Amino acid sequence: MKNSPRIPMPERNPRERARTFDEVKKGYTEEEAVGEAKRCLQCKKPLCMKGCPVSIDIPAFIKELSERNFERAHDIIKNTNSLPGVCGRVCPQEEQCESLCILGHKGDPIAVGNLERYVSDRNMGGHEDTKMPSVGRKVAIAGSGPAGLACAGYLAKRGVAVTVFEALHEIGGVLIYGIPEFRLPNAVVQAEIDELKRMGVVFETNFIVGKTASISELLDEDGFDAIFVGAGAGFPRFPDIPGINANGVYSANEYLTRVNLMQAWKEGSKTPVLKGQHVVVMGGGNVAMDAVRTGFRLGAQDATIVYRRTEHEMPARVEEIHHAREEGVDFELLANPLELLLDDEGFVKEVRCIKMRLGEADASGRRRPEPVEGSEFTLPCDVFIVAIGTKANPIVSRSTKGLETNKKGNVTIIDDWGRTTRDKVYAGGDIVTGAATVILAMGAGKDAAKAILHDLGLNED
Ligand SMILES: Cc1cc2nc3c(=O)[nH]c(=O)nc-3n(C[C@H](O)[C@H](O)[C@H](O)COP(=O)(O)OP(=O)(O)OC[C@H]3O[C@@H](n4cnc5c(N)ncnc54)[C@H](O)[C@@H]3O)c2cc1C
Ligand code: SF4
Repeated sequence: MKNSPRIPMPERNPRERARTFDEVKKGYTEEEAVGEAKRCLQCKKPLCMKGCPVSIDIPAFIKELSERNFERAHDIIKNTNSLPGVCGRVCPQEEQCESLCILGHKGDPIAVGNLERYVSDRNMGGHEDTKMPSVGRKVAIAGSGPAGLACAGYLAKRGVAVTVFEALHEIGGVLIYGIPEFRLPNAVVQAEIDELKRMGVVFETNFIVGKTASISELLDEDGFDAIFVGAGAGFPRFPDIPGINANGVYSANEYLTRVNLMQAWKEGSKTPVLKGQHVVVMGGGNVAMDAVRTGFRLGAQDATIVYRRTEHEMPARVEEIHHAREEGVDFELLANPLELLLDDEGFVKEVRCIKMRLGEADASGRRRPEPVEGSEFTLPCDVFIVAIGTKANPIVSRSTKGLETNKKGNVTIIDDWGRTTRDKVYAGGDIVTGAATVILAMGAGKDAAKAILHDLGLNED
């Protein structure tokens, strides 16, 4: 059994799924999960764990799973990861734990992510209240994305009273408003949030830290002992090309928020979205893949990725590119938009692009794309979505004296534990690193929680 191939996770048929928001990957059956878990060698020096930013005891949870001790497996994961249903779905495991698994040298690595997802889904919502006795301290958290949620969970587990302030009307950050339901169902995020509520975490929505109340007010008037800032990097960047202000142009964040959070796909939605026939997305990351596949699900006839390098350099997960292709997405690689051409009413109707070729490597180590003279071409386009990255959300830093930021507007931290230049204020996740990953944001939230406990004299390193 041990050197057998990895058990694949069943997926919905591409034709059927390309028009619905149902989850693409269906999850393992019990026999599939246990079978996959039994492939694990239970290494004495498990390299897989080195690849996990939150150090889940991977062999231990897999062993319990292989023996059908599902709750014990869940408890082991939960010890270090408060959002396993999320991470099992969206973490880039192929670059992390799975890339280091010893079985990968000669065959398929263990499907750690699929197993994590199985254990989490099996235990979803089945737990009692887990509120810890109070230690008499209270901490505020700005932002309810994975960084804020991980920080909240870690502190609540140790008896700290935690209030999470969220600017939007829903909790979860990008997990709820960004990543579409066909990859991460909102119900999975909700179940993990409910668990935090059972631990005593209080959530206040429609509360913008820096506007509804300042950090100073929260600390000095409301008596919070510390604040963790996990406000994310939700500010879109746009290319400087003619026509970019036209009707029918969206940032990927706005487009996905309208669909995921405001349910714009529903007839009569109060926050509608243009349902284009020819959707063109500029970019090559996970965000671009999510946007283009969403375009299809809203009924587009064709949906195209325009990316200036080759597929090899695309930052999106290989699995996401594969799924997009299977669903019929077109890829215009080595191409860059030059201009949007508009109709008489100011709506985008075509995008003029130019072919690119790869030159010398740039600072990122990737070969720099250069335009090929005279290679312009046009694509029909009535919805143009920009997915070329985002910037730090500036509201908290601009409104907080003494909270320093770097040139990019990211909050500066002065050590590896999320301490900032302002006393009692900690930060982590995309607001510090710029757009990154769920698991890195969670790791940062957890590290900051440890620092907070230490600084409050609650005995953590
Ligand atoms: C479409 C999309 C797809 C992605 N796919 C993946 C993937 O497959 N795998 C992966 O690992 N990562 C993925 N990412 C990246 C990942 O989601 C982020 O790195 C992660 O969510 C960052 O977490 P965070 O907690 O720092 O910030 P966020 O998730 O951005 O959460 C920040 C929260 O703070 C709130 N906020 C902002 N300002 C304030 C304020 N002043 N007061 C109160 N609240 C405030 C925001 O409303 C938001 O809810 C994706 C991102 C996007 C946009
Ligand atoms: S490295 Fe692979 S085989 Fe070894 S313990 Fe980790 S998951 Fe199991």
